[in-house]
Amino acid sequence: MNLEGKVVLITGGTRGIGLETARAFKEQKAEVILFGSKKETVENAIEQLKREGFTVEGYFPNLNDYSEIQKTIEEIEKKYERIDILINNAGISANKKIEDTTVEEFQEVMELNVNAVFHMIKAVVPLMKKQESGVILNTSSMVSIYGQPSGVGYPTSKFAVNGLTKSLARELAPFHIRVNAVAPGITNTDMVKTLPKEMIEPLIQTIPLGRIGEPRDVANAFLFLASSMASYITGVVLSVDGMARS
Ligand code: NAD
Repeated sequence: MNLEGKVVLITGGTRGIGLETARAFKEQKAEVILFGSKKETVENAIEQLKREGFTVEGYFPNLNDYSEIQKTIEEIEKKYERIDILINNAGISANKKIEDTTVEEFQEVMELNVNAVFHMIKAVVPLMKKQESGVILNTSSMVSIYGQPSGVGYPTSKFAVNGLTKSLARELAPFHIRVNAVAPGITNTDMVKTLPKEMIEPLIQTIPLGRIGEPRDVANAFLFLASSMASYITGVVLSVDGMARS
């Protein structure tokens, strides 16, 4: 896959899809840097991977604070001299009906799922331009194609992620920076465990491949899109959803 020695930065790398993605890149002998929301969860993830024989480094900048992100990226640049692959994976979901969703709750989803993705890319692009290469991968969702019956902030944010992906793919292509997104269907992580069963069960029944996704299914898509096998692919939103269509 040609990922050996590549420097990979993964936001939301402490659990679920992000942690599995870190593991998958370590298996390919990449250098992995995790971002998490808290010191404790970052340390736990580092420890967990260490027990499996993988060494990774972690940081916990506030993703809504652009200057904090910039400082952290500068620190990483000093140490590693490059960032080859940025995976914007941190995200939160929403499931309340619109009448029950506060303005603040809507904004919170947009801040992490959209603004933080913008902050990360803005902070990393100057380095990637200097390198004259880079891969940016965003985590969208199948709800970015179909919407969902409640929790409007979440699909709204993922539609924005698709827009950001396609636009920046055009803007950054001349600099040999590819920008793609992966759109998982229902995937077996803590995020799904917090959703009501009445919402999940009927959805699983509509999945042609007959099962919920596993974090590794999504990690594999990230590996492919980051690798040289995808060197002519940019601006796509790759569905990893067992062909779920609702
Ligand atoms: P998860 O809840 O297991 O993990 C989310 C990650 O985001 C964690 O590492 C957490 O530390 C980080 N995070 C949460 N709030 C944060 C904050 N305020 N600041 C910094 N980091 C924060 O979720 P997951 O299922 O692994 O989701 C990962 C990505 O996949 C998300 O973008 C999510 O929208 C997307 N996704 C998940 C599913 C699913 O069914 N699980 C489906 C489609 C898309």
